[in-house]
Amino acid sequence: MSRTCRCRDCGEDGFYPVVYADEGDGWERCPTCGSDRIEWGNKCPLCGRYAEKLYCDDCARNLRDRFHELLLCNFNKEEIKALNEIFDGKELE
Ligand SMILES: [Zn+2]
Ligand SMILES: [Zn+2]
Repeated sequence: MSRTCRCRDCGEDGFYPVVYADEGDGWERCPTCGSDRIEWGNKCPLCGRYAEKLYCDDCARNLRDRFHELLLCNFNKEEIKALNEIFDGKELE
């Protein structure tokens, strides 16, 4: 799992911090605003941005929306209900 950072001050995300080694152990700082209020998270495999979970919120929402659209275009209500029951709790491959 790749890791990446998000800055809580300027909102920059998907970066690798600049390390200043001149202050003892070194500080990890945001390359954009220089803040040390950065947090490490997972790197979203789809867009490379910071993600609290496996995927970032934007990609997760985008995928859910598109998947939902796909379902609505290809299956009727009863079929979607059946799919939900078949795939409930399982991972779609
Ligand atoms: Zn910043
Ligand atoms: Zn993403």
